[in-house]
Amino acid sequence: MSKYILALDQGTTSSRAILFSPYGDLASSASYEFEQIFPKSGWVEHNPQEIFGSQLRAMRKALEKVGATADDILTVGITNQRETTIVWERDTGNPIYNAIVWQCRRTAAFCDELVENGYTEVIREKTGLLIDAYFSASKLKWILDHVSGARERAVRGELCFGTVDTWLLYNLTGGKVHATDYSNASRTMLFNIHTLTWDEELLKLFDIPLAVMPTVLPSAHRFGFTDKKLLGKEIPISGIAGDQQAALFGQNCQKPGDVKNTYGTGGFLLMNTGNTPVTSQNGLLTSIAWGIGKEVTYALEGSVFICGAAIQWLRDSMGLLASSAESEEIAMRVKDTEGVCFVPAFVGLGTPYWDPYARGAIFGITRGTTKAHIVRAVLEAMCFQTADVVRVMQKDAGQTPLALRVDGGASANDLLLQMQADLLNLPIRRPACIETTAFGAASLAGLCEGCIELPLQRASVTEFLPQISEEEREAKLALWHKAAERTLGWAKENE
Ligand code: ADP
Repeated sequence: MSKYILALDQGTTSSRAILFSPYGDLASSASYEFEQIFPKSGWVEHNPQEIFGSQLRAMRKALEKVGATADDILTVGITNQRETTIVWERDTGNPIYNAIVWQCRRTAAFCDELVENGYTEVIREKTGLLIDAYFSASKLKWILDHVSGARERAVRGELCFGTVDTWLLYNLTGGKVHATDYSNASRTMLFNIHTLTWDEELLKLFDIPLAVMPTVLPSAHRFGFTDKKLLGKEIPISGIAGDQQAALFGQNCQKPGDVKNTYGTGGFLLMNTGNTPVTSQNGLLTSIAWGIGKEVTYALEGSVFICGAAIQWLRDSMGLLASSAESEEIAMRVKDTEGVCFVPAFVGLGTPYWDPYARGAIFGITRGTTKAHIVRAVLEAMCFQTADVVRVMQKDAGQTPLALRVDGGASANDLLLQMQADLLNLPIRRPACIETTAFGAASLAGLCEGCIELPLQRASVTEFLPQISEEEREAKLALWHKAAERTLGWAKENE
């Protein structure tokens, strides 16, 4: 019987479980979508029990598909949507509030106050991050402020805070382990990425008791064992990394200068910067990519909040698509957008704008505009946002990437990748297996247990090459920038 590494990939819209052979071959996968809760404009929540429940179902289904049992699993790796914040009771494991999702803007005003009070530099210096509602710190503060008695209980050590990796680990180990890894900790805005500790000054600033925080460990590390009740046997959990860092690892971006872009719910471009944390002058973030043994690798990151989520919106809220994949066929019905420009600023704009008050807009609609133009404009917007991030990455890192390695659900779309190659004037390379996030988590776990070695096996790639002229590229980018500028500050002006 073959042995597998089990990767649990807990994304923003779905929980996936994938079995890999130690040679990196995908043996089986299963995934379940779960509910997105929007209690108010700009607010986004998930039910933590549904997150764990769907993850368990996916895990069982993936095993069932190949007739595998716990005996066939060498180790488990976890990768997860980052920053999303959960607080639960240490004794019962019951959440005291829904998970506040990374996209949620409810704490934007508080973050503005921090900026106005001059905390930008100190926070950037300690955490590598820009002050924004996106990160966990203000979300955790919000829960402690708004759930009755929560802060007192946190002080008494009765509550646990965790990002989604920590929540899964706690539940998988039957409540025995309350820990996270460096990559996830570096996205909370409470972790000092130089000293590798929770930062006392920041905990104080956000009024967060240390007792609520998880232990922080390297990404390739034996965190604990799955509870016997779950699969009938204890299995080591030996790798954890936030989804974007796991994808960087899984794309084999282990050398400084290597870059990948993920087209998932959001879009995330990361560059490995080796053992040095590089500070951005242009709105990029500095994060920990992973820790292996005593060595810590850093990354520069550009974040696009709404990427594939805009396609999901066309499908679920607008009813313009039967499936996400259909976007390609519909967009191909027209040769360009005929001037229609879509700005997916549903929850503000990230790199390089960092404006929580920007809101979505469609410009340039005429009587001749059809569904196909709109769908194509949405796909194009995903590429424009990525192009903006690549531009600032070039400035900060002082080098142009030779190519862009891509992954994530929407990278299955050939038209999208061709438009991306055109707008960036760079070759775009998509591996045969786009489950690089899960593969990264599996690899970290396998590395820890000695069943995988570096460099990882390289899958074959499909390459997309630029086909448009410089003039056409510049014209398209100019139109995008004009449109993006006009969405800035929108929600603030209309308060
Ligand atoms: P996450 O892990 O963030 O939940 P995925 O990497 O699974 O996301 O990507 C899912 C996103 O990609 C969804 O928003 C979906 O609408 C979009 N998507 C999936 N397939 C396609 C496609 N063929 N074309 C465009 N978008 C797609």
